[in-house]
Amino acid sequence: MVKAIVGANWGDEGKGKLTDMFAHSSDVVIRFQGGANAGHTIINPYGKFALHQLPSGVFYPHITNIIANGVALNIPALLKEIDALLAAGVPRPRLLISDRTQIVMPYHILFDQVEDARLSDRQYGSTKSGIAPFYADKFAKIGFQVSELDDDDVLIAKLEHVLPLKNTLLRHLYHQPELKADDLLAQLRAWREAICPYVADTFAFLHEAQKQNQAILLEGQLGALKDPDFGIYPFVTSSSTLAGYGSVGAGLAPGSITEIVAVVKAYSSAVGAGAFVSEIFSDQADELRRRGGDAGEYGATTGRPRRMGWFDAVATRYGCRVQSATAVALTAIDVLSYLDEIPVCVGYEIDGQVVRDFPVTTRLNRARPVLDRLPGWKTDIRGIRDFSQLPQQAQAYVRFVEKEIGVPVTYVSNGPRREEIILR
Ligand code: GDP
Repeated sequence: MVKAIVGANWGDEGKGKLTDMFAHSSDVVIRFQGGANAGHTIINPYGKFALHQLPSGVFYPHITNIIANGVALNIPALLKEIDALLAAGVPRPRLLISDRTQIVMPYHILFDQVEDARLSDRQYGSTKSGIAPFYADKFAKIGFQVSELDDDDVLIAKLEHVLPLKNTLLRHLYHQPELKADDLLAQLRAWREAICPYVADTFAFLHEAQKQNQAILLEGQLGALKDPDFGIYPFVTSSSTLAGYGSVGAGLAPGSITEIVAVVKAYSSAVGAGAFVSEIFSDQADELRRRGGDAGEYGATTGRPRRMGWFDAVATRYGCRVQSATAVALTAIDVLSYLDEIPVCVGYEIDGQVVRDFPVTTRLNRARPVLDRLPGWKTDIRGIRDFSQLPQQAQAYVRFVEKEIGVPVTYVSNGPRREEIILR
């Protein structure tokens, strides 16, 4: 049985908490896309952790955690994450890295930085962790696969092939010093030593795990609206954020992903550039940002203040649909407790017409929010474990969201901690 936990919004919906919660009853937890460019915040008895590449099952000794083929593997960042866990007293996690995973090269990060500087005010809001140059190279067939680390001859031949391309750009477009093959080879050899205990044929491992009916959890990064195909292109990430991609990014049968939990936040937040129709500004945004999440809405990886907005039914309905959500986890409902009235975006006005279907980017850029207002509950709801104990207005808010998106809201999260969850 394979369950996927994915985002239905722009990311930062609280997937980390949900994954941490579901991980408990899983045998295998898999990261199948993305890299060190985003992070989950997890609060558990060991402390508070921002996981970027490690799957959320790393806190449980019974779980095999897999960094699968679809991930952009940043080796030094991963080693740091493992060290941070050990330093906090977490037992060494059971971790496998697919031999088909590709490696974020030092020059991917460099290219991300110099290109972002070149773009100046036309930036996409990159986290500058090399993700776009990495995936560009993967599909241009000049990426480095983990399996290739074993063979110096392959590495040398490949560097000879790749470096003239990179150095031409570095010299003539970015006016940077050229890369040297020897430096990169030494780096790759050191990385080989460091990750060799984790490397495995995870495709074969998962084939066996599925034969034995193990509980497998796919852990998505970012959200549906950052998907390169269905998101707000070009202000998207560079790997698919959709549950459907889980089968490719991890090596699982497409039909095996039977439960897809889309995580939806009770309000909206986004990082980076791009249309954000229900966005709010100044004091109104500051207050929601300050009250949001567990310690304000700031990027888990970059610390950047997140852009804030009201719940967007148009975007979320679409997000759940492209994820093929079978259930929704509505998070951070406690954050809204301060509001007298809660604005929600129920439609987009585009060229004088109100639409309820999420449009392509060119039309999205002209959209204005159509807002409705629901009554607030004005009381602290953290600690409540039973849906019927929530104030009537909070119950009505959840039912409203459910009706708008057309997927059952099975989990309501009313606080950042693992146990702060209401199962309906
Ligand atoms: P992810 O990438 O989807 O895992 O999201 P992040 O971890 O980056 O951001 C979600 C933030 O919301 C984190 O600070 C979480 O601790 C916090 N969070 C998750 N669920 C809840 C909730 O129900 N209530 C509150 N107040 N915070 C939550």
